[in-house]
Amino acid sequence: MHPLLKFLSAIPDIFLPKSCPLCGEDIPPGESKALCESCRESFDRSRPPWCPTCGKPFRSEAALSHTPDHLCAECRERPPSFEAARAFGPYEGSLRELIQLIKFRGYPSLATELGSELSRLALEEYPDIISGDALVTHVPIARDRWRERGFDQAKILAQSTAVHLGVAFASTLERGGSTSPQTSLSAPARRKILQGFFSAISMERVSGKNIILVDDVLTTGSTAGACSRVLKKSGAASVCVLTICHTVIQKRANW
Ligand SMILES: [Zn+2]
Ligand SMILES: [Zn+2]
Repeated sequence: MHPLLKFLSAIPDIFLPKSCPLCGEDIPPGESKALCESCRESFDRSRPPWCPTCGKPFRSEAALSHTPDHLCAECRERPPSFEAARAFGPYEGSLRELIQLIKFRGYPSLATELGSELSRLALEEYPDIISGDALVTHVPIARDRWRERGFDQAKILAQSTAVHLGVAFASTLERGGSTSPQTSLSAPARRKILQGFFSAISMERVSGKNIILVDDVLTTGSTAGACSRVLKKSGAASVCVLTICHTVIQKRANW
């Protein structure tokens, strides 16, 4: 095992799992995985057709029948500042449960494990970026959340993803505000609050790099968009977003 992965795996969970935290199934002794095999295989993966920019799957294939590069209504109306976003699966069912276990029940080691899924997704969706001058970074957690949890799940995810990919990792962003704007706010309201929320730690770290920006969930895309704008102002060549989950596109009247 790579020394960094070994170190990340050694971060103690608040409740050391001896069984799969999702289904309660025993995990064989000596098995280093935190999740049982059947739960890993049962995750609902997102598949095309999806919006080529934000990666959220379309509810209907009709949207693509005439224009293969058809964007979702949100991306058409307000193109994001990042090149693309891709998520492993929807924020529903067992994936949602998994994210909540990591964030609210103190299972950071699950984030380490999910780095392998994110690295596979990156290889499938961003092959040119990985082979170029890439840098994996993360959306930083709010300071009061960090004080509460003692770990930053997006940072652990990003470090693990970088190790699996064999790509450099660095923290590049600082967060100004305390907590994030509520996810229940509309996208324009979130965007407004997020203006000036993030700043770059060092322009040197990101200048000329193709950035892979990791977070746990892509909601409206406004947080990733705010981070991407800062990274590009600091000289990043491109920003591609990678998350475990995306929220589900609401059906629009014009579809
Ligand atoms: Zn299980
Ligand atoms: Zn979109």
